Amino acid sequence: MTSREFKELAQGMGVDLIGVAPVARFALFSPEASPLAIQPQTRSVIVLGFSIPRGSLQGLEMGTAGYTLGMGIPGAVALETTYQLCRRIENEGWEATPVFQQAGDMRRQGVAVSPDKPEPNVILEFDFAAHAAGLGEIGRGKWLLTPEFGPRQMLTIILTDAELQPDEPFSGSVCDNCGKCAEACPAGALKADALHCAPLCEGEACWYPLHIESCRVCKTGISRLPYSTGSEPFRLGAACGRACVAHLEDSGKLTRAFASRFRPDEKEA
Ligand code: SF4
Ligand code: SF4
Repeated sequence: MTSREFKELAQGMGVDLIGVAPVARFALFSPEASPLAIQPQTRSVIVLGFSIPRGSLQGLEMGTAGYTLGMGIPGAVALETTYQLCRRIENEGWEATPVFQQAGDMRRQGVAVSPDKPEPNVILEFDFAAHAAGLGEIGRGKWLLTPEFGPRQMLTIILTDAELQPDEPFSGSVCDNCGKCAEACPAGALKADALHCAPLCEGEACWYPLHIESCRVCKTGISRLPYSTGSEPFRLGAACGRACVAHLEDSGKLTRAFASRFRPDEKEA
């Protein structure tokens, strides 16, 4: 199976974003976050993105119905599609390991099976993987932004020993450092007057320092990642995430356009 054939297959199954990175791009990670600590034969890291409907944020925007986002987060669909794609890869004779996004605080929850192995669970850095596979960048709000959907997607990963033609790491720009995510946070959890930076496979990502403890108790629309028992929240539905959606759409940064504005009553910047 070629990279192109795999992408056509995945697109046909409804995957919105598909990128491939060679495992060498993950060399900067310790075993606790390394694909090779999950599947040692990994050659290619496939990152799949599933869009979260914009409309599922509207109940939170109205302040009347937070559960609408729960319906919009494509947990079951992403799981089923990723599973089916793994089967199709394995039909070709290559091994495929499905990996779902987990809260980072799920690391080191168990006992290492031997001194040379990391403690379970190994948790991959999905946003870094998406950058390495060419899908998007880590914005100042400390989340993945893609040119198609901004912060509105959920990711899964497939690790495979198939050597697929890789995509280039993402080199575009989505975040414009507007500070709207920080402005929107009632707890002041994002500090727009400073930056925290971390290396990528090429270059580095910088985001506003985030006081995650405030987010864990945020009442503006956080949710949990599907299938994760960790406590690190998914922040798209919170005030910070929705402010980013509104800003990126109004500034024409996203390729996915809508007939109506996300916040029709808000004055355009
Ligand atoms: S999740 Fe809540 S507390 Fe955390 S940055 Fe967003 S708005 Fe602030
Ligand atoms: S709201 Fe502005 S600064 Fe924050 S992540 Fe979005 S584009 Fe970047």
